Amino acid sequence: MTLEDQTQLEQSKQLRRDFVSNVSHELKTPLTSILGFLESIQTVARNDEEAKSRFLQIMTDEAKRMSRLVNDLLSLNRVENEESITPTDEVDLISIINETIENTEPVYSKSNNFLTFSHPNQPIVVKGSRDQLQQVVTNLLENAVKYGGPNKEVKIELTGPAHFAVLGRVGVTLDVIDQGKGIAREHIPRLTERFYRVDSHRSREVGGTGLGLSIVKHIINRHDGRLRIKSVEGEGSTFSVFLPLD
Ligand code: ADP
Repeated sequence: MTLEDQTQLEQSKQLRRDFVSNVSHELKTPLTSILGFLESIQTVARNDEEAKSRFLQIMTDEAKRMSRLVNDLLSLNRVENEESITPTDEVDLISIINETIENTEPVYSKSNNFLTFSHPNQPIVVKGSRDQLQQVVTNLLENAVKYGGPNKEVKIELTGPAHFAVLGRVGVTLDVIDQGKGIAREHIPRLTERFYRVDSHRSREVGGTGLGLSIVKHIINRHDGRLRIKSVEGEGSTFSVFLPLD
């Protein structure tokens, strides 16, 4: 007689089932709404120009939501596939962050957020993927704006090189600090799970897919780094990315 522990296999099957059911649900909600409004346009609202243009706007927003979700799913798939391939390019973090700040300008200036970026005087060169590190900064910065609220300061601080216990070697830290409502302690360990949201309604309202931090976590893993989230309710949150230097 042989005994085989299949716990891990069962867990990964369950994870896959949950994922498929989550994705289906996330896509089904906007799709149902689009189909409903299409029907209204073809029937009850056929001759109501004002209602038709309102419905078309809602349908556009819902279609954009589906498109964001599909884009994030594709990104997640790509970063998961590449996770075990260590990056070899040498990239300067300061220029990556500056470029991301420039690209994100329309997002934070629309909500009147005030952004500061402090960094060491010399270039900070790490082994990494430029596109992926830019994605990390974009996702954290967009979250700080989305959940930090309008008219608030968002700080980006790059510090190091120094020895960080969390890395067990010399590295740098990138902190993205907001002045939002903060996150209750019990949610923090789960934020990087796919589709985990503290407040689903709020996330949808600000155009979230629930995948941003999951993508961030996989990219940081690929770079042999660490993510630490600290938050004080009512004061704000700090998302810290630790990256090793060779
Ligand atoms: P989403 O697309 O919903 O923003 P994320 O994976 O980026 O998905 O984030 C997951 C959840 O973590 C968000 O829905 C939100 O509840 C919470 N969160 C992320 N960043 C912040 C932040 N800076 N302040 C407060 N809550 C945050």
